[in-house]
Amino acid sequence: MKKQFAVIGLGRFGGSICKELNDQGMEVLAIDINEDKVNEYASVATHAVMADTTDENTLRSLGIRNFDHVIVAIGDNIQSSILTTLMLVELGLPHITVKAQNDYHEKVLLKIGAHKVVHPERDMGIRIAHNIVSKNVLDYLELSDEYSIVELMAGQRVDGRSLIDLDIRAKFGCNIMAVKREEYIDVSPAPDQNIKKGDILIVIGADKDITRMEQALFDDDDAGTM
Ligand code: ATP
Repeated sequence: MKKQFAVIGLGRFGGSICKELNDQGMEVLAIDINEDKVNEYASVATHAVMADTTDENTLRSLGIRNFDHVIVAIGDNIQSSILTTLMLVELGLPHITVKAQNDYHEKVLLKIGAHKVVHPERDMGIRIAHNIVSKNVLDYLELSDEYSIVELMAGQRVDGRSLIDLDIRAKFGCNIMAVKREEYIDVSPAPDQNIKKGDILIVIGADKDITRMEQALFDDDDAGTM
């Protein structure tokens, strides 16, 4: 059976989640307090309804308990976001993802039982900053305060060298999880695999180790083009 999703709040974030879930063939209930928003998403979501989700009876009457995953994308109105989340937790929803406006909002959401909290603006800001500082860093995913996964573009310095030869694990304490070359992705590459300029290496490690490795091996002016 198809998974059932509900998206509450159809701003830019909630709206794009709604569209993407629909594109992936999922069942999506789109909910907003604003009638114009509901009309806008009527043809995108499986169903679109106008409702104030801070009202428990309204939530119950929508049959929200039967959904597999609810995404709360109410932004500016932190009070509504918290109240809605609290009621979803009390109703026993198995997966609740909530967009937070700031760190205090996140703390409260996690305390009251949200399963996942996201900060789309902050996270995208961090990723773009890493890409601006070093053009070899194509993408960046923070795993914790100290550890990350990064996508690095191979340049002249590593061109034609094997993973054994580069000896990244011993020298820098990082691990190459995968190597992407055009459409092909090699997960857990063999030690004798040769790197080519323009390959994309997906690396996991401590931030300080990744930075050392990036400066030593990837800080080229002539890295491959994206
Ligand atoms: P984005 O940055 O994603 O565009 P935002 O952070 O500016 O969004 P808002 O526009 O404040 O977020 O809220 C997103 C949507 O949530 C709005 O369309 C708003 O009408 C809706 N919303 C706010 N309160 C409620 C509520 N109590 N019940 C249902 N929807 C609500």
